[in-house]
Amino acid sequence: MELRINPNVARLVCSNSGKEVPARGFASPVGLCPCCPRPGKPVVIEYDLERVRAEFASVPLGGHGGRGIWRFAPLLPVLGVPEEYAADVGGTPVVRHERLSASLGVEVFLKNEGTNPSGSFKDRGLAVAVAFGRACGARRFCVPTQGNAGVAACLFSARLGMPGCLVYMPESYRGCIYHRACEFFGGEVRFVGANIAAAGRAMREDLADELASGATVDMSTFFEPGRLEGKKTMGLEIAADLGGEALPDVIIYPTGGGTGLVGIWKAFEELAGLGLLDPTRTALPRMVAVQSANCAPVVEAFEKGLADVIPLTSRGTIADGLDVPGAIMGHGILRALRASGGVAVAVPDAAIEGAFARYGLAGVNAGLESAATLAALEALRASGGVRAGERVLLLNTGTQLIPLSKPSKT
Ligand SMILES: [Zn+2]
Repeated sequence: MELRINPNVARLVCSNSGKEVPARGFASPVGLCPCCPRPGKPVVIEYDLERVRAEFASVPLGGHGGRGIWRFAPLLPVLGVPEEYAADVGGTPVVRHERLSASLGVEVFLKNEGTNPSGSFKDRGLAVAVAFGRACGARRFCVPTQGNAGVAACLFSARLGMPGCLVYMPESYRGCIYHRACEFFGGEVRFVGANIAAAGRAMREDLADELASGATVDMSTFFEPGRLEGKKTMGLEIAADLGGEALPDVIIYPTGGGTGLVGIWKAFEELAGLGLLDPTRTALPRMVAVQSANCAPVVEAFEKGLADVIPLTSRGTIADGLDVPGAIMGHGILRALRASGGVAVAVPDAAIEGAFARYGLAGVNAGLESAATLAALEALRASGGVRAGERVLLLNTGTQLIPLSKPSKT
């Protein structure tokens, strides 16, 4: 196995200022930008589209022979992952749901992410981030988590035979399923603070020296550019599976940190840049961000016409993954919503619970975060934001039937 940076990578840019960020030959891991006020803003990867176009000229989108998400290798930043690393990542089905379509008066498609190796869409982002970080010289990873991201970081570290990922969880998570799953995949779990933000602060204090040297890489949402590239593969799959003519009119995405929403839109923009999608003939999907009404900073910023998200105090939501009071890529989320002609929607927790129950009775294996997308569709049908007959894709982020859920013996 020899991991290497894809020569199609053209440059790194700051997502906020647009300025180029020095890549320094990818001899050290890439973190937040140096150009914006500390701690900096997310860095994104740009590709040499001429080179990518040449590769796609002979082989269709998604036909590049790599396993799992690496079948889109020309648009990924790292190459050379072993088969067992990648084969089961991505490739999730887009499913038309007849009963939901009939009851809502639109064409409902679900993209079910539960078949990823640790059961959620986080696997896509962490698969690319871990391999990319390793290719840039990282020796170990760390991440604050209250769910699937930590498990995914541990799983992919294990798949590369690296030292166990350092996982920081809020105190109340001791003994929970995520704790046990992280340890199963070789992770070292530490418990600090009341929430993920406090755990993240403690992590950066504890590991300040290793993080500064680049030996350990902070895998927090958007703190490095690989997770975005991995989540982008959802957009590439939607385009490859549905084809340019049959893209959904609307994609509804449960938005915490927003990596997938920004990633799906990045995929569509890159495909348009390559000429593989033609927005002048077929409109790109309108991106919809859904949040809990108890924690809706993106909705607030969108409705006020702001360019960035202003952090607020969460009132707490039953959907853990939506309990993100400030998004470091808020400017990128808002840009994708506006560029696509989309919207941000807040739904009450009671509506999320109701939608969750409807998913269960429809046989859809989804968590509360994903149920928020169904609640949002119901709200948008009532308001006219989604019209009769439109094609709507709901992102179902993963299984709620987490493996390894047997009680621990220790
Ligand atoms: Zn910057």
